Amino acid sequence: MRDLRASFRAMPEQLHSLRMRSSCGREHISGAERLLDFAQLEEEMSSMLQRALGHPRGRAERICLTLEPVKAATVRRESLLSLSTFQVENWQQGRRLAGDLLKKLGLERVLVEAAVAQLSAGPAAQGGVMRGAMLIDALTGQRCESDRSRGVRVSRMDVDPGARQSIQCLLAGQGFDDPQRIVEAWTLASKVALCPQVIAELCWSDDPDYLTGYIASAQNGYQRISQLKKAGSRIGGRIFFIRPGTNLSALTDFLQRDPILFHAPGT
Ligand code: AMP
Repeated sequence: MRDLRASFRAMPEQLHSLRMRSSCGREHISGAERLLDFAQLEEEMSSMLQRALGHPRGRAERICLTLEPVKAATVRRESLLSLSTFQVENWQQGRRLAGDLLKKLGLERVLVEAAVAQLSAGPAAQGGVMRGAMLIDALTGQRCESDRSRGVRVSRMDVDPGARQSIQCLLAGQGFDDPQRIVEAWTLASKVALCPQVIAELCWSDDPDYLTGYIASAQNGYQRISQLKKAGSRIGGRIFFIRPGTNLSALTDFLQRDPILFHAPGT
């Protein structure tokens, strides 16, 4: 009886959505989002601050940390997408492959090329990177975000604390040298893929030293591509290709607000 009560008490009733956003002037520098137990907050806040202060995109002038309570009972549990990696020789080959993977998901090549051109040129309202993702109508190619500098920022997702170690070991075992970065993108992509209104996501980083990007979809999983942009480029971003007629406020609400913890694929 005593054991049962002890394990019940050990389950937190509340989690915490922790988000960081940093900028220099009008330029977005970095961001991060986690869904954590109270005990993890101090360490993670300090690691977010370090990230903001020492980012390859430059030193932040403004750092905003937001902490909000999330009732544990409202948290959905889901499986991460399956993961695969394609090695390519250069970013041009990577972009062609991304186009092929999106074509297989039913997206027209011309529409994808126009979307990629917008992303490469700097998709924010004043040029440069956005803080969140672009939403592109998969039929018309029109952009649907209400704020072209902010876009939609996906948050309130993380890997289940009980699964984190095994997921990071799984990635380290496959020779990935930066498992933490992959876990963050993989978690984000897995949440986006839960939306039936999103056909696919395309992403490459705004970090000038990180060339890997991905295509993600519920249908084909999280497909990393070793090079998707030119070395040294500070322009990166995300595009969510959405079905025509999507209810934008329901989609944005889900992406920004619904809390989800992920376990390893197939577990
Ligand atoms: P990163 O993968 O962190 O290098 O981010 C690349 C780009 O993706 C950023 O410049 C943003 O435009 C976008 N982005 C980053 N985090 C998010 C997020 N949580 N939700 C939506 N878009 C994001």
